[in-house]
Amino acid sequence: MKLTNWISAYKTPQQPLLIAGPCSAESPEQLMEVAQAVKSMGISVMRAGVWKPRTRPNSFEGKGKEALAWIKEVKQKTGLAFAIEVANPAHVELACEAGVEILWVGARTTVNPFTVQEIADALQGIDKIVLVKNPINPELSLWIGALERLNRAGIQKLGAIHRGFSSFQKSRFRNQPLWQIALELKTLHPELPLIADPSHIAGNRNMIFEVSQKALDLDYDGLMIETHPDPDRALSDAQQQITPTVLATILKDLRVSERASSNALFINQLEALREKIDHLDQELIELLSTRAKLTEQIGEYKKENNVTVFQLERWNEIMNTRPEWAKLAHVSPDFVRELYKIIHDESIRIQTEIMNKTSEPER
Ligand code: PEP
Ligand code: MN
Repeated sequence: MKLTNWISAYKTPQQPLLIAGPCSAESPEQLMEVAQAVKSMGISVMRAGVWKPRTRPNSFEGKGKEALAWIKEVKQKTGLAFAIEVANPAHVELACEAGVEILWVGARTTVNPFTVQEIADALQGIDKIVLVKNPINPELSLWIGALERLNRAGIQKLGAIHRGFSSFQKSRFRNQPLWQIALELKTLHPELPLIADPSHIAGNRNMIFEVSQKALDLDYDGLMIETHPDPDRALSDAQQQITPTVLATILKDLRVSERASSNALFINQLEALREKIDHLDQELIELLSTRAKLTEQIGEYKKENNVTVFQLERWNEIMNTRPEWAKLAHVSPDFVRELYKIIHDESIRIQTEIMNKTSEPER
């Protein structure tokens, strides 16, 4: 991808880019209140949803065109730059007319190459900053594909927003971060600014700090944080929005690590790689724990049905499939075969324990 640097115009070299503002623009007063607070914190980009993609009809779908007029006024009065979501060519046209500096493609749009292409076509010949949120499903190529479509349409001021991935699995996150997918994008395109969206990853106020810190520790270039003057009464995403006062505290407490100095380049790069490994290992262990819980359930089920712990057919299937999957992922099949012997041993240990557990006497 051919990229042009745009991010340094909106941030100081040592600090991450900050984008703050409400999930949705709700009224001129609400927008102006956040704008003034955000500006006083030294933040230069504000977000505000104008058209809201909602899972169910009859939810608040954004104020549309009306909100663009409010945004224009706030821009004039404060000099803040704005970022809004666009989901079709008409949105692009209206956003450009209103002088909005940054457009973003939402998670529900990134999944659809037809719509992304229509947006890219609408942007042909227009010099805008465009950020692409990750698709709702964990597929890196869709994310990259959307960025490439925009790039081919001539957009060189690009960035990626990591907002987490939707999953059937129960998780403490609204959208599972699956950090390794974003890190893979960063590895493939180190020059592409990567911005975290802790609000949509967390889904609740209490985890905004933790997710933001993790993103900064992973050397993200920026954070987009939903900020509302009265979050409990927000018309969308109430649980995850924070007040400007809370935002100020979070920003004060966040640790921004030093960038590598040139003479210590080697050591710093090594450290960065090790940090990625640490985070991946944490995720691996979380996955192992989820796997162990499933193993326990299977153990209980086998016990109820009086079936042996060891099932030869299943073991053969694991031994055949996993090394094959490893090959496809360019991981050594022998290594994966050995790894699964250990994992399987542990599954047997867990299930045997369950089998041998005498049920608690009834009181
Ligand atoms: C949003 O930013 O308010 C939004 C709708 O985001 P996403 O596309 O990540 O769901
Ligand atoms: Mn939102």
